[in-house]
Amino acid sequence: MENFQFYNPVQLVFGRGQLEKLPNLIPDGVERVLVVYGGGSIKRNGIYTNVMKKLENYEVFELGGVEPNPRITTVNRGADLCKQHNIDFILAVGGGSVIDCTKSIAVGAKYDGDAWDLVTRKVKAPGGLPFGTVLTAAATGSEMNRGSVITNWETNEKYGWGSQYTWPLFSILDPVHTYSVPREQTVYGIVDMMSHILEDYFHKPTNAPVQDRMAEGILRTIIETAPKLLKNLESYEYRETIMYAGTIALNGFLQMGYRGDWATHNIEHAVSAVYDIPHAGGLAILFPNWMEHNLNVHTERFKQMAVRVLGVDPTGKSDEQVGQEGIDRLRKFWTALGAPTRLADYDIDDSQLDVMVEKAMANGPFGNFKTLHAEDVHTILRQSL
Ligand code: NAP
Ligand code: FE
Repeated sequence: MENFQFYNPVQLVFGRGQLEKLPNLIPDGVERVLVVYGGGSIKRNGIYTNVMKKLENYEVFELGGVEPNPRITTVNRGADLCKQHNIDFILAVGGGSVIDCTKSIAVGAKYDGDAWDLVTRKVKAPGGLPFGTVLTAAATGSEMNRGSVITNWETNEKYGWGSQYTWPLFSILDPVHTYSVPREQTVYGIVDMMSHILEDYFHKPTNAPVQDRMAEGILRTIIETAPKLLKNLESYEYRETIMYAGTIALNGFLQMGYRGDWATHNIEHAVSAVYDIPHAGGLAILFPNWMEHNLNVHTERFKQMAVRVLGVDPTGKSDEQVGQEGIDRLRKFWTALGAPTRLADYDIDDSQLDVMVEKAMANGPFGNFKTLHAEDVHTILRQSL
């Protein structure tokens, strides 16, 4: 293992009915709360009403309409609202997009300028308002990490950033809040959390058997649970399993002792900086192609995934064959759930291929399992068309 330090200050409040605890979780002295939410799902499923009831003792302001793939324009609007109304606490109610947007608003509120400077790391976060989250969709792990992914449609850029001020103070996770997540979005969430685990699973070879088994166990559990959940979207048991898996996948527990690859996420951000597609739809297409591109780098890692996670029988086969079979099974699993397989599924052709490569390369070569250069990204994108 590499040396590591672990820190995660998020108070996780998990289970049925835990919204009850909201008033106790908000720090003493808070008077004005900004509630941030998305396109209206929380109004349709009743979560909005229940949250507002719990905020009766505060002066409440609202920022609705946060887009999937949240935009810097919305972040700046939120930061302005905070300054204008002297907000002292923010509550994000939604999925990863709402939470990511809230993180950037929280810091933007303390910055005199365009919050894009924070996202692009042009300036250091000067501070931040405290915020909590009520998660409504299992996917990103944003509820228990400090990452915030923001898109700028003026410059066609999408970047992730974070700081000591972007940790949620608490996150309330009630699996019942995810019952109304539509089938398609449920699938995206499953692909995203699996991709997070896989990004870390593909790290430089190092001694990490405990981390490996944890990652493999969670991946297997998701693979077992996902089809059952899709047959019964209001199963508490399955929603609970998937919700917990999504949080653990990206809260730092699986990342101790090595640096994950994270190239596929970087390429996906380049794709969705040009085309407004669902994050996990992009990942489902790109990840198997990233794997095939790198099958000959540390082939034993692909073999391990194939055998331990996807149940490939290695008898009489070369490591490469076993690895390829694993990749094929993963692709088939995601396709069977209903995830897309080709960029063409989103009407994306090769016309912007060079632009996407350029965007992916904005900060130079990347990837900790295998360093990717422009020609690698080009090949992976072309394979994904
Ligand atoms: P999302 O973009 O937050 O939400 C997708 C859709 O699901 C929205 O239309 C939303 O509707 C709907 N939805 C959410 N909860 C619902 C519910 N309970 N019932 C019905 N519909 C519901 O999806 P996400 O996958 O969680 O987040 C994706 C974003 O996170 C991307 O921008 C991605 O790049 C980023 N990301 C962040 C991290 C991180 O660590 N920070 C990691 C990976 C990805 P409403 O808008 O109406 O609520
Ligand atoms: Fe992701």
